[in-house]
Amino acid sequence: MSVPCTIDAPGRSRGTPPDQRAHRDSIFVEDGKLLARQEYPGKQFVIRVHAPKCAAAATPGSFAHLTCDPERPMRRPLSLMRVDPRAGWIEILYKIVGPGLEALSQQPVGATISVLGPIGKGFVVNPSRPRTLLIGGGVGIPPMVFLAESLKQRQAEARWQPLVLMGSEIEFPFRARPSQIVPHLADALRILRTRHGADGAGWPSMTAVVTGPSRTGDIERILVLGAHGPKRLTVLLLEG
Ligand SMILES: Cc1cc2nc3c(=O)[nH]c(=O)nc-3n(C[C@H](O)[C@H](O)[C@H](O)COP(=O)(O)OP(=O)(O)OC[C@H]3O[C@@H](n4cnc5c(N)ncnc54)[C@H](O)[C@@H]3O)c2cc1C
Repeated sequence: MSVPCTIDAPGRSRGTPPDQRAHRDSIFVEDGKLLARQEYPGKQFVIRVHAPKCAAAATPGSFAHLTCDPERPMRRPLSLMRVDPRAGWIEILYKIVGPGLEALSQQPVGATISVLGPIGKGFVVNPSRPRTLLIGGGVGIPPMVFLAESLKQRQAEARWQPLVLMGSEIEFPFRARPSQIVPHLADALRILRTRHGADGAGWPSMTAVVTGPSRTGDIERILVLGAHGPKRLTVLLLEG
């Protein structure tokens, strides 16, 4: 039996035209516009794409299927890291694995990128348990950023205090903002006290001070690297 379909790019089949399909109006196909792209070590990129329908319907945990270039029929699934429904953009963090995302990284700012989304069922959080622990590694980082930032804006619902733990085998694709860096530990503690209260009741369940390797050589004046503390330290700071 033949199924009617339309072809909108070489080799790309869309199946039954959207206007003849029964659907829930929750997933959209739209011609997005690449607004910005930032490159980070380890072939990682953050792109911002104007895709207002996807941005308006997305929730933390949503992902989208993006075309990487017009000649490549297979879309790539990528999670949404941030959305701005008012400005109509979505932000995605990805790491190149093969030719599809490599092609996406070559697209010039202003290029048209077809966005199919948002897809997936978002995270369900429980306002009676506002101290959420969010854990994500590698490509699992973007949905955690989306969830943590959206919880921060939902303070009317609960006093959310998300703690995000992220792991990555390569350098983190984030840069510290100057406003986040203070000269002394005492300054950092002062900020924490202002943010979470002086009595300790509102503090997260864990606050850690991570140090680098000791260089004082204070045990028999022998310097041992790697015995205590990490050799390499990556600090990730979130504006809060
Ligand atoms: C729901 C979801 C969310 C994801 N979110 C992110 C993210 O936020 N950031 C990120 O860097 N990566 C994410 N990934 C992984 C990302 O989709 C793959 O790394 C990417 O498709 C690889 O494409 P490539 O062209 O670089 O490599 P390819 O060489 O084309 O593919 C490498 C591997 O990815 C698989 N793959 C390629 N396209 C698809 C597809 N359309 N559907 C299923 N598998 C496919 C291939 O089978 C192959 O095993 C996500 C994957 C899924 C399923």
